[in-house]
Amino acid sequence: MDLQITSLTGASGSTHFVATDTVNWVILQADDGVTLIDGGYPGHADAVTESLRRVGSAPEEIRAALLTHAHVDHLGGLVKLRQKYAFDVYADPHEVAHARRDYLEQANAASLAPIAWQPRVLRWLSRILPLGALDKTGLPDATPFPDLAGLPGAPVPIAAPGHTRGHSAFLVADGEALVSGDALISAHPTTTPPGPQCLGPVFTHDPERNAASLENLAATDARLLFPGHGPQWAGRMRTAVDQALARG
Ligand SMILES: [Zn+2]
Repeated sequence: MDLQITSLTGASGSTHFVATDTVNWVILQADDGVTLIDGGYPGHADAVTESLRRVGSAPEEIRAALLTHAHVDHLGGLVKLRQKYAFDVYADPHEVAHARRDYLEQANAASLAPIAWQPRVLRWLSRILPLGALDKTGLPDATPFPDLAGLPGAPVPIAAPGHTRGHSAFLVADGEALVSGDALISAHPTTTPPGPQCLGPVFTHDPERNAASLENLAATDARLLFPGHGPQWAGRMRTAVDQALARG
C-alpha cells in the first residue's frame, strides 16, 4: 500500500503523519511507547503495522489509540489490531457510545444514494468497499479520554463536535501540528479541487455545529494541518478554516 509519511521531531518525541489515498492516521512516538491517532479502515490494519515499522517502531509498542471519531475509516483498523495487540482505545466522552456501536452515525447506502451516480463517487466506493467500509464492528471497551498528558507524545484534545457528536481534534508535536480528523480536511476522493474544506452534509452529522467547531481549530497556533483525509497542509489554521468556510 502506498503510504506517505511526514515526520516532525520535538521535545515530546516524533510525530508521524501517515497518509493513504483514502484516509490518514498519526503515530506519536516517544521513549515510553507509541500513541496512535485513528487507525484507518479494517483493511488498513497491516498498513498501520507497516507504517509503525517504517518509523522504527512496532505494534507491540502501542500504549493507546485515540479516536478523532468512530467512523469505520478511522476505527476499523484499530478493531483488527486489538485482536492481536493489547492497548487502550480512548475517545471524547460524547463519542464513546458511538465507538462501542451503541448507535451508528455514518453515511449509508440510503444517504449516499443522491451522489452515488457520480463517477468519482463510484471510483471512491470501489476503493473503500474492499477495505471493509461496511464493517459495523465497534470497540465495546472504548473509554473516555484520560489525562492525555501522560501518553506518548502528550497530545492535547480539542473538542470539535459536528462531523459526529463527539468528534475531537488534537494538538500534537508540541503544538506545531493539528490533527483535525474529519472536522477539517484537505482533499477527498469525492470532491474537487483539493484544499482546506469540510466534508459534505452526506458525511456530516451536524454541518452547522461542525462549522462552529472550526473556530476552536482556528484559535490554535499550529502551523501544520494533519487532516483525516487529504495531504498535510502548511499554514495558519485561521487561514485553513477561512478557506473551508468560504467553500461553503
Ligand atoms: Zn468521518
